[in-house]
Amino acid sequence: MSDWVASGTFTAEDPRPCTRHSMRHLAQSERTYSNPGGAQRGHATLLSLTSSLVLVIHPKTMPGDLLYLGKITRRVFDLLLGGALEKIVPIGSPCYKKSYYNDNGTLMNPLYYGMTCPIPASGNYANGTCTQGGYAEFAVKVSNIAQIQLAVNLARTLNLRLVVRNTGHDYNGRSVGKGALSIWTHGLKEIKYVKNYKSPTYNGPVFKVGSGVQSFELYQAAGKYGVSTVAGICPTVGVFGGYSTGGGHSPLMQLFGVDADQVIALEVVLASGRFVTATPSVNSDLYLAMLGGGGGTFRIITSAVVKVHRKVPVTVSTWTLMTSEISMAPFFATDKTVAEYEVLMKPLFDKCASFGIQLTANTTHYDSFYPACQATFGPSNYNVGGAGAIPGNRLVPSDNWASSEMRGKTFAAVQNTIENALLVLIYHQRPAEQEKEGINSVNPAFRNEESMIVAINAVSDLTAAGWKAGSEQLTIKVLGPLREVTPTGGSYGKEADIAETDWQKAFWGANYPRLQQIKQKYDPGMLFYVHHGVGTEGWAIIENGNVGVQSTDGPLCRV
Ligand SMILES: Cc1cc2nc3c(=O)[nH]c(=O)nc-3n(C[C@H](O)[C@H](O)[C@H](O)COP(=O)(O)OP(=O)(O)OC[C@H]3O[C@@H](n4cnc5c(N)ncnc54)[C@H](O)[C@@H]3O)c2cc1C
Repeated sequence: MSDWVASGTFTAEDPRPCTRHSMRHLAQSERTYSNPGGAQRGHATLLSLTSSLVLVIHPKTMPGDLLYLGKITRRVFDLLLGGALEKIVPIGSPCYKKSYYNDNGTLMNPLYYGMTCPIPASGNYANGTCTQGGYAEFAVKVSNIAQIQLAVNLARTLNLRLVVRNTGHDYNGRSVGKGALSIWTHGLKEIKYVKNYKSPTYNGPVFKVGSGVQSFELYQAAGKYGVSTVAGICPTVGVFGGYSTGGGHSPLMQLFGVDADQVIALEVVLASGRFVTATPSVNSDLYLAMLGGGGGTFRIITSAVVKVHRKVPVTVSTWTLMTSEISMAPFFATDKTVAEYEVLMKPLFDKCASFGIQLTANTTHYDSFYPACQATFGPSNYNVGGAGAIPGNRLVPSDNWASSEMRGKTFAAVQNTIENALLVLIYHQRPAEQEKEGINSVNPAFRNEESMIVAINAVSDLTAAGWKAGSEQLTIKVLGPLREVTPTGGSYGKEADIAETDWQKAFWGANYPRLQQIKQKYDPGMLFYVHHGVGTEGWAIIENGNVGVQSTDGPLCRV
């Protein structure tokens, strides 16, 4: 384990346990932070906590506590891990590290770890302040299952906060946590093709995939074997961390189902430290909960066995409607030749022409999925957002197309979203129905969606008050009317508004009570906590309010 070298701009912080005293202290304190260029950007006065009577108890062990990982414990732990324990240093701290995705602790959205050491875009940052903030404290860089078991057992025994991190793509900061020990699964990269896999529920070709594998790696493997697999649009999203466990939408889901539907078996480490298999017939409740119930909640996945499908040709077409502000980018027509695509689109193009609207399409055909996906989605600059934008979404079900009255109300709500958000992305896709539904816990609203509307709200005032206002505007003004007009809809929890209202219903609908029971059975001690995760009622991160939205910058407490 390399020792942590603190630079002149990096400051360690006092731990803030969850006591009434610290609540009072927090409520009365006033904190400022500076931007990397040295100028003061944000300023937050924490008053909101004083107004509510909250009893906060039973903190997780935090840095500075007697039971926290002291030097000797760390050395022994590291020895047992075979040298896999690393100090997490915020990525921006030494200005800079080379690779974002290979970093052991970063999250893609700086807001959600408390804007504690934002990556400076340019300029002189010598006067800026950089703190550990909402980052975890140490990472176990996993290369085998025994290391995960050791870390789980240590965290449970010392009552440490534990987080699981794969790529750090999570929209709601669910893979980081102040003071936590982080299990970093990024290195579990095995991909094995099995042509004739046999199980009670599936016979055919599969991949056995390590939980650190990312979308582009799985697509590349499928390309190599002349087959297709389901994974994300963004090439760098991890497939068997947050993605499959949240459901997982994909450019191929209208043919084969969502990503959770692809998984035949999982290997996992439980909160007890035991290593088990979960399939539709072995530990079936765990299997059900893990595929749809969310990542970092029930256990740690080490590998998955997933279905492999036939090679799929794709026609990709882009066009712009009326102004450059509305674009079809792209129409991703899986399993269609150019001629078939043109027949499909003719009524729309004719209708537009009758209104005098000329659509000029740019169309390309690919004989398999990966090159189409790479050419279409690969070059985009993916990130969750920065300090100036807050994302959320709504799943719009087929009910909203059932009558002209419903369609009218739906379009009015969509128009409101477009007029009030900075950017709106709409995925028009419905997942293929499955032979056996109900064996996993994918949000019923996700299964029944016709469209998923992703709205990104702009934040122009980069202070805690500005972020708070931006977040409230997204929740109430931008997404509120959409929620109202889609009572049987929901929200995709993996790309959710961090302040999603009624999140249990929005992310899981009728599946929620069953998921709560399974959480209680497998993790009664709340080893695995994530923001808006199953069974987290009564737990909260008491953070310092620096960014005006819920962040990971605070101890995890029982309230
Ligand atoms: C740019 C971008 C594009 C995206 N595109 C898509 C898309 O096309 N389709 C889609 O459905 N979603 C998409 N997403 C959302 C994505 O699915 C979620 O952010 C997902 O949580 C990422 O999972 P991860 O494992 O890569 O990230 P992480 O942030 O590392 O982890 C996410 C969650 O999973 C948990 N977790 C990680 N590894 C494990 C493990 N081994 N076992 C158990 N829990 C684990 C973490 O604790 C955390 O709660 C996109 C996100 C981004 C930022």
